[in-house]
Amino acid sequence: MHNGIEERFLDINRKIHAACHKAQRSEEGVSIIAVSKLQKVEIIKKAYALGINHFGENYAQELAEKSLACPDDIIWHFIGPIQSNKVGLIAKHAHWVHSIDRKKIARKLNAALETEGKKIHALVQVNIDREESKSGILPEEINSFTRDLIENYPNLILEGLMFMPNINASKQAKMNTMKSITGLHKSLLSDLPNCTHLSLGTSNDFEESILAGSTMLRIGESLLGKRS
Ligand SMILES: *Cc1c(COP(=O)(O)O)cnc(C)c1O
Repeated sequence: MHNGIEERFLDINRKIHAACHKAQRSEEGVSIIAVSKLQKVEIIKKAYALGINHFGENYAQELAEKSLACPDDIIWHFIGPIQSNKVGLIAKHAHWVHSIDRKKIARKLNAALETEGKKIHALVQVNIDREESKSGILPEEINSFTRDLIENYPNLILEGLMFMPNINASKQAKMNTMKSITGLHKSLLSDLPNCTHLSLGTSNDFEESILAGSTMLRIGESLLGKRS
């Protein structure tokens, strides 16, 4: 177990290298967000010692505690559903938020950021599989939603889109989903050229995600080990 993270990190990097080569993309355009939800601070510190400095958290309280206990130069990404009574913690401790999908939350987060005197990098979460139980706006809402964010919530720096595809879908369905994600991101980029980021891919599908144009891979267990 001692070298577990290091070996897994090397293995993931090899896979990223190969997928970038296949996709004819530069590796510099792809970063790993180590998803550290429910992992101990000592695991984060081990990963940090290997040169990983982007971490993703799903729970605001946990983010707050960890950001205080971990090195100052870590970039924290909030990737979970946002509860309106937690926007203050997110505004204070996160540098990126991947899960913007409601105007009410955008408004409250914008106000909390105003109080903090800071801005946050923001991605809009899209519910690509149109599953009722899942977070995210629908694909056809992307244009109006992103325009509204840009016009009304200046403390959110809009950077692109985030997707959490259904991991249980068939291989063919997943490929189709990846294709439509690539298309949605391209069409957003033609409208808003600053929205260069695409947060897509987890432990299970990060190589396919690179082919689909992902710039941020949210990798949890295959890097940091099983969550407790
Ligand atoms: C937990 C989580 C991940 C990471 O999942 P793994 O299977 O551990 O790689 C990625 N994105 C989101 C939104 C998550 O909640």
